[in-house]
Amino acid sequence: AEDPRYIPNRAVVDPSAITDNVRALKSALDEQTALMAVVKADGYGHGMLATARAALEGGATWLGAAHPAGALALSHAGLDVPILTWMYEPRTAAALLPDLVAAGIDVSVGSMEMLHLVIDASRSVERRARVHLKIDTGMGRNGVLPSQAAPVVQAIREEDFVQLVAAWTHLTDADVPSDPATDQQVDVFDSTVAALTEEFGTIPLQHLANSAALLSRPDLHRDLVRPGIAMYGYPPVETDLPLRPAMTVTSRLALVKEVPAGTTVGYGRLHTAASTTRLGLVPMGYADGLHRAASGKVSVLVRTAEGDRVVPQVGRISMDQIVLDLGPDSVAKAGDEVILFGDARIGHESTPAEDGPGPDAAGSDGPAATTAYDWARAAVTIPYEVLTSINARVPREVR
Ligand code: PLP
Repeated sequence: AEDPRYIPNRAVVDPSAITDNVRALKSALDEQTALMAVVKADGYGHGMLATARAALEGGATWLGAAHPAGALALSHAGLDVPILTWMYEPRTAAALLPDLVAAGIDVSVGSMEMLHLVIDASRSVERRARVHLKIDTGMGRNGVLPSQAAPVVQAIREEDFVQLVAAWTHLTDADVPSDPATDQQVDVFDSTVAALTEEFGTIPLQHLANSAALLSRPDLHRDLVRPGIAMYGYPPVETDLPLRPAMTVTSRLALVKEVPAGTTVGYGRLHTAASTTRLGLVPMGYADGLHRAASGKVSVLVRTAEGDRVVPQVGRISMDQIVLDLGPDSVAKAGDEVILFGDARIGHESTPAEDGPGPDAAGSDGPAATTAYDWARAAVTIPYEVLTSINARVPREVR
């Protein structure tokens, strides 16, 4: 990796935002509903361990990681809560499953083949595997179809080394609360669980709510909710809860120059200056994870000597750089900070501790920074992809 001391770009992660967001999400739950912090994909790009610790601080009591290697890393870091993992395939899982079971990590089972892998692993380490039965209620991905669930549960019941902990599913359209698909999935889930319960006895836990269902469907909270994106400050449905972005992507102006009307910018000359202006060059581009599809459609915040200014990005986003139209009277100069998206209170120059007054007072006189929502809209994608696209070339900094 490149030495971060010589890279001006940062993805600054504010763990207190994650802690506060989880606290807020918890406040929407009944006391008996637990919260699993979904920290897959390196904590949606925020850093898995920092995210997990911050979420536990806020009241999460479970962790979820798609990849088993991630789950194992959480366990090895000493995070002593139930951890669920669900995305594995036979070749790699055969090597890892014994370690997972030995570490007491909960594993999802979505087919008879997966169950057999888990049984083999648990016998080899002589420890009971904790299994969550995934039911495919409409996602068409992992999970047993309702009609094929009974033999899997029967095989679990017949196996001493496997313990059925939960039945679960994942919703396809919870971010559109009016979409009838959610109720259809819930009906399939409930009837499948009812039939399994009648035939094989009680299944201790049920869980199906992602962020959207957590925020819009209290009736779907059940025993456990699994928020991801809302915890990072980007609720996928409207909410009154005070959630704030936990990641702020910053850089610095590499160059500022005055240009005459008619100056063109970038590949394809997508932009032409209409009048004399000042252009600012930012040393970050699509190879850092900025979406090229957002070219010319986003604004970013520049921290100048005269205060924060939100200015448009112009021309095509390049591999290592973007250009801003700072305006003819801008006092911005090379070295000034640029916040590509996130929280305007976070910056190179200040730490929350130095800011003093705290989140509500600090920076309240300046404009708000662009958010991952803005980038998502511009690039016709979702905040999930904007956040997870900021890649390892951008050093993480936890503050
Ligand atoms: N549960 C599972 C199985 C997931 O794959 C995800 C992420 O897509 C989540 C929960 C969290 O979803 P969200 O980030 O929409 O809250």
